[in-house]
Amino acid sequence: MSTLVIKDLHVEIEGKEILKGVNLTINTSEIHAIMGPNGTGKSTLASAIMGHPKYEVTSGSITLDGEDVLDMEVDERARAGLFLAMQYPSEISGVTNADFMRSAMNARREEGDEISLMKFIRELDSKMEVLDMDQDMAQRYLNEGFSGGEKKRNEILQMMMIKPTIAVLDEIDSGLDIDALKVVSDGINQMKGEDFGCLIITHYQRLLNYITPDHVHVMMQGRVVKSGGAELAHKLEAEGYDWIKQELGIED
Ligand code: ADP
Ligand code: MG
Ligand code: MG
Repeated sequence: MSTLVIKDLHVEIEGKEILKGVNLTINTSEIHAIMGPNGTGKSTLASAIMGHPKYEVTSGSITLDGEDVLDMEVDERARAGLFLAMQYPSEISGVTNADFMRSAMNARREEGDEISLMKFIRELDSKMEVLDMDQDMAQRYLNEGFSGGEKKRNEILQMMMIKPTIAVLDEIDSGLDIDALKVVSDGINQMKGEDFGCLIITHYQRLLNYITPDHVHVMMQGRVVKSGGAELAHKLEAEGYDWIKQELGIED
């Protein structure tokens, strides 16, 4: 079992404190969902976990199986088994999607134990089939000219190929039609297992109609203010966030 532990995390962007003491523990085999109104720091948390340089951790800690994640460079975090699907994936010209995935997979393997091209292609084909993706997407430059929905599917494809220990999926459902939503959910559900933990960040409950989270957390004003089981997501869908604000005496 692997465990990602976030303790009292404070993060600033350009001198402004966005995260004000986040606590969260994610074990492999668990699916967590973070929900919350816009602008409360959900993407900031994702970026801080992956080490985006713009986000300055001013105090607190992030560890993966006791190893200090904050001490690792971005590529070291990926090699350690962390993966981030971004809310707005960037386009990278000159690198094909397939090359990107193959080198990311090999970076997690020992030297001399690189995945063979045949095995890679076979695995890629089968995952692309699950995600109902066109074969030519693999040979195109990373995210270049991909539609919003294609970018999201592609993030899930990368996750399925790279097989991270802990994946953070930021708004993977935004902009997806219902068919794409089902396909993306199938991919995530297929990953579920004892070697995989997941943090799904979403503004809406609808993704959680297809993926049942073990834990649901609400983020407001830079903190996790409430945690519960899958039923919490349903309550939020039905009643919104106001009742939590009232409970906590939070003003907008
Ligand atoms: P969420 O994902 O919950 O919608 P974000 O983490 O994106 O929230 O943003 C939290 C706060 O941080 C917002 O007030 C936002 O304006 C601010 N913020 C986020 N990213 C940046 C940035 N790159 N530069 C300046 N401010 C930012
Ligand atoms: Mg947002
Ligand atoms: Mg966001």
